[in-house]
Amino acid sequence: MNPKSINKVHLFRTKDFKKEDYNFLFSFFEDVATKNEGEHFFVKYEEAITVPKDTVKSYITDMFNAKKIMQDVRVSPQFSGISDDVYQEYIQKITGSKHDIASWETMFDLAKSCRKKNKNINTEDHVIILTNTDNERNWFSANDDTNKNGFVHTDQWDYYLPGYNKIYPIAYEVIGLIIHAHMGCSYTELEKRFVHHKSIGCVSDFCGSKTEVNIKIRTGDICDNCLKALKKYVNFDNVHLLLMYLNEIREKTLWTIRYRKINDTISNINIIQSPNNIEIEFIDYNNKKLDFQKGGNIRKAIYTYLLIYDDGLPTYADNLTDEQLERLTIIYQRVAKGNSKIKKEAEARMFNQFVRPGGNLNSGANNDPLIFSVVAKLNSIIERTVKGEVPLKQYKINLTTNNDGGNLYKVALSEEYINVVYH
Ligand SMILES: [Zn+2]
Repeated sequence: MNPKSINKVHLFRTKDFKKEDYNFLFSFFEDVATKNEGEHFFVKYEEAITVPKDTVKSYITDMFNAKKIMQDVRVSPQFSGISDDVYQEYIQKITGSKHDIASWETMFDLAKSCRKKNKNINTEDHVIILTNTDNERNWFSANDDTNKNGFVHTDQWDYYLPGYNKIYPIAYEVIGLIIHAHMGCSYTELEKRFVHHKSIGCVSDFCGSKTEVNIKIRTGDICDNCLKALKKYVNFDNVHLLLMYLNEIREKTLWTIRYRKINDTISNINIIQSPNNIEIEFIDYNNKKLDFQKGGNIRKAIYTYLLIYDDGLPTYADNLTDEQLERLTIIYQRVAKGNSKIKKEAEARMFNQFVRPGGNLNSGANNDPLIFSVVAKLNSIIERTVKGEVPLKQYKINLTTNNDGGNLYKVALSEEYINVVYH
C-alpha cells in the first residue's frame, strides 16, 4: 500500500465551545499550513451543533475532586512553582463548577449525524467534534474504531495546564487524532501496538494524569517507531506538515509560558502633566515611558482618562455622559496640537471616537466606532512596554460589563499605584 495524502478533516464545534476560540484554532491551522506550503485539510463550519439533551448528564465538581485535580497539577515539575494562593484560587474556582457529561458513543453519533447532514463530507474524511462536554472516560480526545469519527474535549485545560493558551493543547489533540488515524490500526489496537505507557515525549504517550500532556506538548515529538508507522500510510509532504504542527504548537506554548515569567512586578506609574503634554512613566521599570507612537495624542488622552477616572469609558457614543466628554476634552486639549487644542475641536474629536460610522448599511462594512481600534492599539503598545502576564493584566484595557449590562472599557490597576505629577 502506497502512502497517501490525508483526507479532509471536518471540524465541528458544539455550542459550548466558543466561536472565537474555534475561529482562532482554525486560523492557527491555516497559518501553519500556509507558512509551510502544506495542504489545507481542515474544513470549517459556521454553525455550532448541539449535544442532544437526553444523552447528557450533569454533575458538579466537589472540593475533594477539585483538590485531586490540583494535586495532579502540582506534582508536575512544570507547575510545582504555583504559589499556595494561586493553588487555593484554582480549587475555589473548580469546586462547584457544573459540567455536562456524555458517552463516547454519543460523541461518535454526533459525528455521524454531521456526515449525514453535510453532503460535502466524503466517506473517507475525518469528522472531529470539539466540545466542552465531558466524556465518560475523561479523555481529552479519541477516535472511534473506524478512525473516521473523533472528538476533542475543549474544556478544563486551564486547570490541567495553568498558564497555557488552551487553543494549543486543543490543536495538539486534533493533530494527535489525525496521526493516530493513520498508523494502520484501529483506535483500540493502537493501545496495544503503539501507546507508550511510560512517557517518552511521543505523541502516542499515554497520559494517566491529564497534566502529563504538557510533557508531550513541550517535546512536540513523535518517536521513531510511531513515525515509521505513519510514513507507511501518509505521504511525506503530509507527514512533514503534521510534524510542523506539533512543532508550532510546542513553540507557541513555550513562548506563552516564558512570556508570563519575564516580569511579575507591578510598577507604580507617574502621569506627568506639563502645559502641552502628558507622559506616562513606569517608575519601577527604570522610568520607562509608554511610547504612544506618531499621532498618538488620542491614544494618550484615552489611556490617561482610564488611569485617572475609575468609571471607565463606554464603547458607543450613546452611553458617553457629558461629564465624561468634558473630562476627556480637557485631557485631550493638553496633548493636542494646533487647532485641535480649541475646545470645540477637541470635544468633537473625542466624541467622534465613540460614534458608529453611520449611514453605511453594507453588512460587510466595518461598523465599529474608532474607540475599538484605539483600544486594540493601546493594548499592543502596553504589552510591548510592560512585558509579562502579571503586569499586563493590570495595565491593559479590558472590556467589562457594568450594572446595566452595558460594555465599558476599564483598566484594572488600583489607584494606589497611580500618581499624577505636574511639571
Ligand atoms: Zn511513539
